[in-house]
Amino acid sequence: MLRELIEEKVSAISEQIIELRRKLHQHPEVSGSEFETKAILLEAIKDYDFEIVEGYYNTGFVIIIRGSKPGRTIGLRVDMDALEMDELVDKPFKSQNSGVMHACGHDGHMAMGIAAAIVLNDLKDQFQGNVKLIFQPAEENARSGGGAQFMIADGVLEDEPRVEAMVGMHIWPDLMVGQAGTRVGPMMAASDPFKIDIVGQGGHASMPNKCVDPILIASHTILGLQSVVSRNVDPFEPAVVTIGMLNSGTRYNTIPETAEIIGTVRTFDETTRQLIKTRIEQIAETTATAYGGKATVNYTFGYPSVVNEKGMVDCAEQSIREVLGDENYVNVERPAPGGEDFAYFTQKVPSVFI
Ligand SMILES: [Zn+2]
Repeated sequence: MLRELIEEKVSAISEQIIELRRKLHQHPEVSGSEFETKAILLEAIKDYDFEIVEGYYNTGFVIIIRGSKPGRTIGLRVDMDALEMDELVDKPFKSQNSGVMHACGHDGHMAMGIAAAIVLNDLKDQFQGNVKLIFQPAEENARSGGGAQFMIADGVLEDEPRVEAMVGMHIWPDLMVGQAGTRVGPMMAASDPFKIDIVGQGGHASMPNKCVDPILIASHTILGLQSVVSRNVDPFEPAVVTIGMLNSGTRYNTIPETAEIIGTVRTFDETTRQLIKTRIEQIAETTATAYGGKATVNYTFGYPSVVNEKGMVDCAEQSIREVLGDENYVNVERPAPGGEDFAYFTQKVPSVFI
């Protein structure tokens, strides 16, 4: 009965939600500057008389839906930011902000969040307790810490009504439309950026004997780093070490003074995470020394691993089976190596990331 009512209410607003998603897609903004995004969201709900609380970490805000009877409070996390990249496809709703694109799908998450708020608000006579929809900026900003931990620090979970459990969702290309899935335990990887600064001795390309070549040091260092997963990490522990940037030199005929290597580490286990950090430091520092230079490693512990709690997973699984059908529940066999700052919510309260 309730399920039919929900379906009816969802289909009644589906056109306006699709339109909202496309509007958000046209106006993507990078982490920390989701001002127009927030304005579009508030505009979309201006006729609904929602209880809105602003002021959580810049553009973060919450919509609180209070059920007619008292009870516990669950939080739904919705991320808001886009990525620094050009949109190459040509759709009528393509990005209007050059160099920025909703490539991770957070435009979809925001539209889903607004739809949930509208439907839950319509049905608030039907449930006990409260739902706090948490619209969170800066999910993509792993190098500066991400929005989730700052919203938590600003009291988004503790403020009345206090959130006792969290649900997050990410749209996912491996699943078919109409399917949803999750798993117990680790769901997304810990994601740690690192930077290695190598200092050699610059000079003319024709006199390498009078120089210390930082490009050669960087090359050996990168090869050495690729032995960490294959030679140091337990073969039953998944881990990734990727170098995404290598910068050095300004001319073909000089030996530069410095080189920098920038990369990321993905792990699911804390011991493995610590081990890889240590090995990166050892390899970078000793390789540089071996070739006469010096290396400094700047390793940042970024987002921790998203860890799903069993009770919350069971609850999500039951709902997915009921609403989408048994055949559309996907038991996600392996966690994903992507990073996700929903992890900070999973550290505070029982949570599920779907
Ligand atoms: Zn994302």
